[in-house]
Amino acid sequence: MEDIMFTSGFNFEGYHITKYYGVFTGEAVIGTGPISELKANWSDVLGINNKAFCDKLDIVEGDAIVALKENVSRHTHANAIIGVDIDFNMFANNLISVIVNGTAVKIEKDKIKEEYSKILDCPVMDYNFSIDIRPCKARFYISDSKPTLMQLQVYSYSPKFLSAMQFDLSVNTLLGDQYKVTDMILADFKIDQEQSTKTIGVYQSERMPIELPISNFRAIESVNINVKKYKQGQEIGKPAYANTVVSFPVTALIQLKKRYGDDAVSEIFETDDTWTCACGYQNSLVLDHCSLCHRQKGETICGDPQETIEKYSLYHTILDEVQPLGSAKEILEGLKRHQGEIPDEIIEKIEKMATNEAMFGNMKRDCIQYLEQQLPH
Ligand SMILES: [Zn+2]
Repeated sequence: MEDIMFTSGFNFEGYHITKYYGVFTGEAVIGTGPISELKANWSDVLGINNKAFCDKLDIVEGDAIVALKENVSRHTHANAIIGVDIDFNMFANNLISVIVNGTAVKIEKDKIKEEYSKILDCPVMDYNFSIDIRPCKARFYISDSKPTLMQLQVYSYSPKFLSAMQFDLSVNTLLGDQYKVTDMILADFKIDQEQSTKTIGVYQSERMPIELPISNFRAIESVNINVKKYKQGQEIGKPAYANTVVSFPVTALIQLKKRYGDDAVSEIFETDDTWTCACGYQNSLVLDHCSLCHRQKGETICGDPQETIEKYSLYHTILDEVQPLGSAKEILEGLKRHQGEIPDEIIEKIEKMATNEAMFGNMKRDCIQYLEQQLPH
């Protein structure tokens, strides 16, 4: 009985429900003692902040919950109770009864991570600042024996609960191919309390099976998501403008997200009369919080943001180019093609390693490590 979990909600994070046993009740009764002298009706009594009385209520509530758990374990093999609801009743003879209701269920730990051999996170390469939600990341669950599943991470800049979203999806592969699926619908989002802040809600969608004419899902590098409609609270939202596509490579976008958060699509920078937020929204310089994502402006970068981003992508291109080469000597030759684009001292250093190679053996590993350290942080 001890390990029966209970919640007023209807699910447990990391578990799924495998069996419902129906609604069960637990009841406890106590005398109100001196409280009865108040001769107030029940709703008045609830409004009174009387410590002794509240303590009494807590105890009787605890008793009722124990009674509910006993009742459930006597009649079922349930290991959890969901939708727990507590009712108080007062009787004429100064007795208070507490009745606790809940649905007994059997829950099991999600085995999703064990069942899928590969979990692949891919950034979303476009965004739309005319809506206050932002799909940021697509997670693919890949297995040799099961259909691939996709789960979306969506940021919301509104306090209203996101309940559904309709969108077109494009999946981009490492080899430059693109596969499209139109009018997908997600209707089950859970808010991630750990990642959410006061102003930004982080949502995880349900995991939905996805079929694509692609032989290996491991080749997926990024996705584009064109939101068509979404439901937030009671309202249906639609974008007023077309999407903006991120203008730099996946590797640079991942760096940005590490710095500013998963919804980031831009450096934070100032121009003469606006500042651009990490979410991509251009704000007037008089504002110190972003009007879309409510981020504080904080420190803006010096210099041209496009230049910083291009620097990222150049360094990553160079790293990609030199990775398959066999020696410091070959890497030096490769780098010389970028003379003028990268600082001379980098080339000089690699030149030294190439010279040392005759004495110390292959220096490829040292070269790559050095080049990785030179990446802008
Ligand atoms: Zn913003």
